[in-house]
Amino acid sequence: ALTTNTCIVIGGASGDLAKKKTFPALFGLYQNGFLPEGIRIIGYARSKMDKDTREDKRWTNATPPSRCRRAVGAGGKGWEATSEPHVKMTRRECVTDDPRAGFTARPLLQDFHSRVSQYIKTPIPALKEKLKEFLERCTYISGQYDQDDGFVELEKELKRCEETFEDKKSPNNRVFYMALPPSVFTVVAANFKKHNYSKDGINRIIVEKPFGKDLESSREMQEGLKKEWKEEEIFRIDHYLGKEMVKNLLVLRFANVMLDASFNKNLISNVQITFKEPFGTEGRGGYFDEFGIIRDVMQNHLLQVLSILTMERPVSFSSEDIRDEKVKVLRYIPEIKMDDVLLGQYVGNGDKPGYLDDETVPKGSICPTFAACVVHINSPRWEGVPFILKAGKALNEQKAEVRIQYKDTTSGIFSDITRNELVIRVQPNEAVYLKMNSKAPGLAMRTVPTEMDLTYKRRFSDLKIPEAYEALILDAFKGDHSNFVRDDELDIAWKLFTPILHEIENDKPKPESYEYGSRGPAALDDFIAKKVGYKRSEAPYTWPSTSVL
Ligand code: NAP
Ligand code: NAP
Repeated sequence: ALTTNTCIVIGGASGDLAKKKTFPALFGLYQNGFLPEGIRIIGYARSKMDKDTREDKRWTNATPPSRCRRAVGAGGKGWEATSEPHVKMTRRECVTDDPRAGFTARPLLQDFHSRVSQYIKTPIPALKEKLKEFLERCTYISGQYDQDDGFVELEKELKRCEETFEDKKSPNNRVFYMALPPSVFTVVAANFKKHNYSKDGINRIIVEKPFGKDLESSREMQEGLKKEWKEEEIFRIDHYLGKEMVKNLLVLRFANVMLDASFNKNLISNVQITFKEPFGTEGRGGYFDEFGIIRDVMQNHLLQVLSILTMERPVSFSSEDIRDEKVKVLRYIPEIKMDDVLLGQYVGNGDKPGYLDDETVPKGSICPTFAACVVHINSPRWEGVPFILKAGKALNEQKAEVRIQYKDTTSGIFSDITRNELVIRVQPNEAVYLKMNSKAPGLAMRTVPTEMDLTYKRRFSDLKIPEAYEALILDAFKGDHSNFVRDDELDIAWKLFTPILHEIENDKPKPESYEYGSRGPAALDDFIAKKVGYKRSEAPYTWPSTSVL
């Protein structure tokens, strides 16, 4: 574990992820004393920020010059010089347009410290003080991604930071966090290695999705990375693996004999793993359209949940034992067929715009914003149990959950009895509940669907559930790979989805429309009933939600 003498470099520190997730997570860890003593954090990106760009700041929040373009999607405050008057453009276009031509004001020429603390909440004075202390540890170097100079400057800054370490005897460790788009990923990873690799200390590189677009591009990317970095130095983030409830899956299953005993084809009828988002692309359609919901959510997050849910008991909690079992269960999954996939795309509902109304989305795009996909696992434990992964944007609610539906009970003495369901809600409002039948209290012999319920907020009332990114960054500092994606795991995940992804791209099937704010395409319930045999209970089930939530 890295406990002292450590610098962390954030590549792409001017970006969205750095601002929204990485720096808030680092601060969360810092304030609780979880970062290595004396930690120094160095941002690296092309944007000029901090003192030396002060004069460019005149464009921030000011009336734009007469010939400029507005950068939307990044808070809308950035301005850039151009020959065209007042054209709206996306942030991504700004970048490809080489905003650095002439005097530039992109992105949002702010002070580095105010930028990275934008999403850090400090409700009490003590936290404000902590934040000040934290920011004193954060510096920034501006440089290109494909030229040596910037990395040479970065090396000087690393050395300067390392001089501040009190422990002069121990080697200096370096962690590199890639909050960068995939287009520059390989070259930056190579430059970090070439210029900034610690000769005597521990080096680690934390990498963000997307890890390619299909099997081939993923392999290419991994090969590029592996030329410079060893697998044990690489930490591939799938932030779902940092979520408290996903981490709990191992305990729920393997520490509860009755749950463990019921996890098999004899008792379970079908399993749904669901991700629902109540908003659309909202101006980030350009990015989304390149990927689609299958790549964005299913091939990574939902498949990760599936593998942890269905793997055999690992020999130990060590990362390689866990990852071996995850890979093994994935290998039992046969190729996914188009026939087992339902695709959807949201349309406007009068109030909210449809996907194609988003001006950042290419005209006539057939990109799925919803997908339901049936997966089988041909292992002795799971053969014949259909699993359905479903994910969508602009739906009726926000949730990520696993819903395990058990088989019918022998009817005989009962009629109209509902199936047991074990629901593991990952977000929001973490909960595990088992829907079960009970006798309705009273003189008559009547059954009623009820639940055994573990609601986190009630059960663990004064406990703060850590952010996924906090948990994962801490794991990377500890050197624990359990919650990171191994190369072979990534490869097999792409192998499963690449055939349907290519088929969608080649055959261009038209996704079924669904209204913004609905539960998905109209065909969904029928698809699920037919493909996986899910039976929604006829008897009304109501949950007496309490003031806790
Ligand atoms: P971003 O804001 O678009 O990019 C991060 C930084 O990279 C930008 O500030 C910019 O810095 C530089 N950059 C952007 N486009 C570039 C281009 N075409 N060529 C060269 N440099 C470019 O991206 P992000 O949202 O922070 O995401 C970073 C990575 O994390 C991506 O791979 C993304 O898919 C992944 N990710 C993001 C999120 C999220 O919540 N945002 C969640 C999960 C994963 P300079 O111009 O200053 O160099
Ligand atoms: P539910 O919301 O009724 O959903 C159950 C299943 O039926 C889901 O697969 C859902 O699909 C589907 N479904 C929902 N509406 C449908 C419709 N109109 N037609 C056909 N299928 C439909 O969930 P539940 O487990 O029975 O729970 C009911 C409510 O009580 C939920 O709001 C739940 O959060 C709450 N509850 C909370 C706790 C807790 O927090 N501890 C405990 C128990 C219950 P989709 O997912 O695709 O929509």
